[in-house]
Amino acid sequence: MKDFTEIKDFMELAEQILGSKVLAANLFKTDCEIHGSNVEALLNGKCIVCYRGQQSKALATEKRQDLLNRKSEMGIPTRFTDATCDNYVPNNDRSAKLLEFCKVYDFDTNVIMLGNTGNGKTHLGCAILDRAIAQKLTGFYVPFYRIAEIKIKSPDLFRKIIKCDLLIVDEYGVQESDFKSNLLYEVINERYNNEVYTIIISNLSIDVFKKSIGDPLYSRLKSRVVVKSCNWDDYRLKDSKDAAFN
Ligand SMILES: [Zn+2]
Repeated sequence: MKDFTEIKDFMELAEQILGSKVLAANLFKTDCEIHGSNVEALLNGKCIVCYRGQQSKALATEKRQDLLNRKSEMGIPTRFTDATCDNYVPNNDRSAKLLEFCKVYDFDTNVIMLGNTGNGKTHLGCAILDRAIAQKLTGFYVPFYRIAEIKIKSPDLFRKIIKCDLLIVDEYGVQESDFKSNLLYEVINERYNNEVYTIIISNLSIDVFKKSIGDPLYSRLKSRVVVKSCNWDDYRLKDSKDAAFN
């Protein structure tokens, strides 16, 4: 037997039995405090409008929870769970330009975002990951200092980080060991060979950054990278073609 969830399913049958649309229509009516009198009712006599409202609320809650779980799995810090391009507030022309770039970035090139803390780089990185989710792409956010530990202790996760569609490496600083410097090369290079790209976020200046990553990675990145200065008063890097990185 058919399981009638909503009155409309039942009405078709009622119409057939009663032979009248009007009679059938009056079978299930109720009074609702919110939606008034004589509103359509469910088979259990409850207001159908209220029921649908509850259903869509439950669905929205479920969708929201799915998104939160997804973002947590991607390593996005709780503080940036809700970071999107829509809620980034640019406070000058250059940050507005950077926002425009982030809105249309097509996951097809490496990006280096350099600049002082507090300029919204992490927000924008997480906002791009938010866009990646909407496009059903895979992605990860990882602070650079965690990559070595992940490689050693969680090889499966490390493989995912290498292979995902978009990787954000945040907090890249001057490395005190060759092992760590080589690690960034390994990650970027393997991803490059897989034709997936990486966004590197760092507080370093462009000169120090170039020196820190070393020649092999520099050469690797050079062919496919956009450098974004997030120091709004740094006019050495003018806009998006910014810094041909040479
Ligand atoms: Zn109601």
